Amino acid sequence: MRQVTGHSIQRILRYRSTVRNPLRNFVRTAPPPQAGQARVRFAHCDPEVACRWRRFVALCPRIFADREAPSPTMPQTPPSPLEAMRRLIAGNERYKNDTRSVTALASQLQRGGLAAGQSPFAIVLCCSDSRAPAEILFDQGLGDLFVIRVAGNIVAPSGIGSAEFAAATYGTRLVVVMGHSSCGAVTATLEVLRGESTVASDNIRDIVDRIRSSAQTVLEVGKGRSPELQLRDAIRANVRNAVDHLRHGSRILEDMVNSGQMVIVGAVYDITTGHVDFLDVPAELREALPPQ
Ligand SMILES: [Zn+2]
Repeated sequence: MRQVTGHSIQRILRYRSTVRNPLRNFVRTAPPPQAGQARVRFAHCDPEVACRWRRFVALCPRIFADREAPSPTMPQTPPSPLEAMRRLIAGNERYKNDTRSVTALASQLQRGGLAAGQSPFAIVLCCSDSRAPAEILFDQGLGDLFVIRVAGNIVAPSGIGSAEFAAATYGTRLVVVMGHSSCGAVTATLEVLRGESTVASDNIRDIVDRIRSSAQTVLEVGKGRSPELQLRDAIRANVRNAVDHLRHGSRILEDMVNSGQMVIVGAVYDITTGHVDFLDVPAELREALPPQ
């Protein structure tokens, strides 16, 4: 017998109302379960609420699958770069609209199954900034994204190695290098270049030095522009520099890109609007994607 405790349900109900209310509406309108579907025991639940949740659970066996069993829906082969981008764009649309997919929301209930393996559909190299978590802003759950986070979304040897590992081990075919607005690492680099501040340690200098060249170019080309515009341009230039570094700094990744097995794109996340703007998407993909 599969069991979902009242604790798990109540944990879901603690989410903000924009998540909770659509879930409740779904439960209210769900048709009754068919014979032979999993039985579910609800603890500490009002009987009427338990009845509604039972109907919901019956329709979503994947979400409430036995934690000890392998995930029955884990893909055996990763999706194409185009399909992966569609999933990221659709997830970001949900995030911007303050909604979440039920699958992503409840993926934590599948963690027992995920212990058997993983099949992330995209690799995301992004900044460590607390306001830019890839799993949340793309509305994805456990096992969906292979995320590499480092201040300034710079491409260091460990970042290249991490991307190579995911591509070689899991067959993941899309890499997204994602910067974000108001990035502290890029701001600090611009301030150092303007002579407004100094670097506090050799370790921080290593990060600044990897952003320096693209930021320097922006300052030279955009001389006289406002600091806000210079920061925006430096963030995009830093992403493009990182994409170029990933495409050509790894023989494994370069071979995969050249043979059409992998696509590496840039992106910038706007922390105010929640929108992710993809940069330099190959024409064949861009034509097949919804307009941004
Ligand atoms: Zn940042």
